[in-house]
Amino acid sequence: MIKGRCECGGVAFEVARLRETVTNCHCGQCRKMSGHYLALTRAQAADITFTSDATLTWYRSSPDARRGFCGTCGSSLFFHPTGAPHYGIAAGCLEGPTGMATTKHIFVADKGDYYEIDDGLPQLEGYT
Ligand SMILES: [Zn+2]
Ligand SMILES: [Zn+2]
Repeated sequence: MIKGRCECGGVAFEVARLRETVTNCHCGQCRKMSGHYLALTRAQAADITFTSDATLTWYRSSPDARRGFCGTCGSSLFFHPTGAPHYGIAAGCLEGPTGMATTKHIFVADKGDYYEIDDGLPQLEGYT
């Protein structure tokens, strides 16, 4: 069981089973909403239990997805493709040790010009 929460604690949850890989998304929306790029892992909705969702706020970023964040402290928390049975979870809100590892970068064509990706991991132009 891995715990996650936003900075202020208004949103807190436990994840029974978590994907062990983390994907860094460099798309324009993730860059805006995270302040840099968004590192996401994934879990099935049924494996996520909220112990507090008092300040959980959803923003529909496109017809294809909504993003969950804390309405009080602003922490980026979730990415939910419309109708999907799983949620992307921002890796930074999880308490370690998580056992996860970053495995790839996506939407690198949209990345900022102020940093380089030099960790040797696969870099995908889009989602695949
Ligand atoms: Zn918060
Ligand atoms: Zn993105």
